[in-house]
Amino acid sequence: MKTDVQIAQEATLNPIAAVAEKLGITGEKLELYGNHKAKVSLSVLKENQAKPDGKLVLVTAINPTPAGEGKTTTNVGLSMALNKIGKKTITTLREPSLGPCFGVKGGAAGGGYAQVIPMEDINLHFTGDFHAITSAHSLLAALLDNHLHQGNALQIDLNRIVWRRVVDMNDRALRNITVGQGSKANGVERETGFDITVASEIMAILCLASSLTDLKDRLSRMIVAYDVAGEAVTAKDLEATGAMALLLKDAIKPNLVQTLENTPAFIHGGPFANIAHGCNSVLATKTALKLADYVVTEAGFGADLGAEKFFNIKCRYAELKPNAVVIVATVRALKMNGGIEKTKLSEENVTAVKIGSANLVQHLENLKKFKVPVVVAINKFPTDTEAEFEAIRQACSSEAVNVVLSDVFSQGGEGGVELANEVVKLCEMGPSQFEPLYSLELPLEEKIETIAREIYRADGVIFTPEAKNQLEEIVTLGFDHLPVCMAKTQYSFSDDAALLGAPKDFKIHVKEVRLSAGAGFVVAITGSIMTMPGLPKVPAANGMDITEDGEIIGLS
Ligand code: ADP
Ligand code: MG
Repeated sequence: MKTDVQIAQEATLNPIAAVAEKLGITGEKLELYGNHKAKVSLSVLKENQAKPDGKLVLVTAINPTPAGEGKTTTNVGLSMALNKIGKKTITTLREPSLGPCFGVKGGAAGGGYAQVIPMEDINLHFTGDFHAITSAHSLLAALLDNHLHQGNALQIDLNRIVWRRVVDMNDRALRNITVGQGSKANGVERETGFDITVASEIMAILCLASSLTDLKDRLSRMIVAYDVAGEAVTAKDLEATGAMALLLKDAIKPNLVQTLENTPAFIHGGPFANIAHGCNSVLATKTALKLADYVVTEAGFGADLGAEKFFNIKCRYAELKPNAVVIVATVRALKMNGGIEKTKLSEENVTAVKIGSANLVQHLENLKKFKVPVVVAINKFPTDTEAEFEAIRQACSSEAVNVVLSDVFSQGGEGGVELANEVVKLCEMGPSQFEPLYSLELPLEEKIETIAREIYRADGVIFTPEAKNQLEEIVTLGFDHLPVCMAKTQYSFSDDAALLGAPKDFKIHVKEVRLSAGAGFVVAITGSIMTMPGLPKVPAANGMDITEDGEIIGLS
């Protein structure tokens, strides 16, 4: 089979203006970035406010394994298949980050015959949103250090500065740095560090903002430091809000591209799925819902993190009513969950699939708690066998959930028609009954405990003394009404990455609690969460190139 980039480069792209026109986006409302990318004006959402929303479908997955699951691929393929069966559909995804692209993961624009294009642009810089976010973040950092240099009128406590710097690159050497070295003219010397841009609170804010005004409100509430009296110092206190919003004036607009089958795709925003909520922007999702019958969207990592936060954070804030969930699994990943090592995944092993399906079944039970109907999509690989599929069907029969094979990777939309029909059936069952898992009225500890008990199936939560103090401070600052954003390993229901399947008899350990006052959530950190990844020994970047004729090599 051809490589992703070969398939993408051979595709026939429609001019993006033609894709937009079919959605009714014309003239000034479309801002072209070349022929195949565009930004959509925020006025499109405003003007269509009175229109009813289309159906919202979430694509999530079992706990990820190194075997790969294929959420984005399924998301893209399903939206093409829905179009094939006559449903006007828009796909909405996150923007890829340069870090993983040049590191291990490669691109994030789907795969095979289920991709969004131009994939080489989407994966690399795209329309510059991440650069804009990096710039806004850097501006605030510069204003903060300048404030210290100019006499520190706000009496910022040098030991309690929480605003770090960001760059969209996996660069471990920047994790811990010292700024302000040298003479007094170089500013105040202090230790700080870099995170990757997708970990910036501004990224989460851009993705949760419902308008430019809401963006500014959220930016202004971001806490950069605490003063010597322990009071929060915000971006507003540094008079940074307006200039940051100005830098983000285009980044806030959804980007429009297309799939290999010319289905419209909004690709916008890309917050981390650990210290942030891991979904594309609210503005893109909401705009898409006004323009299409069906909107298919993805949440990062497995359903224990991605779907939980999609529901409890994004849908709650944006008042979205999801109609159906597709949970993606692969035979290979279920085998890994059943204890098989990566090198043996190509051999048939029905027993391992059965054991590993415990992971899938627990996600199914969990998803029911949000009152949204679910279908399982098995993302097909050539090595899968019918006996293995049957084992999955049997495992899911107790949950009365249908299992559908999806072969969009090798067949495009055609390979997802059965899945599309099943999704339509679920969406037509009646209005969404969606409910978040917990009420915002609950104390923060109880919100965390609810997620740990109901989703992870932990026996309880152990808070370190530091975490307890931090929770107390958050209550004192008046932010106990916020939802929580769990930062946990994506590989396990537990906080131990090695416990695959459906582990029992464990506790969740909350080591640290951080307040993202602007984004509007409290981050509960379990284990060690990496906010600046490093590159592997042989980075994907080493295999990339471009020829004189513009042929791109090594991007997948
Ligand atoms: P996720 O969104 O869950 O991280 P992706 O859809 O990005 O997963 O897929 C991860 C990788 O696996 C991509 O490189 C993709 O091309 C590949 N992939 C996905 N589905 C298949 C499949 N059915 N067969 C072969 N490779 C696949
Ligand atoms: Mg993905």
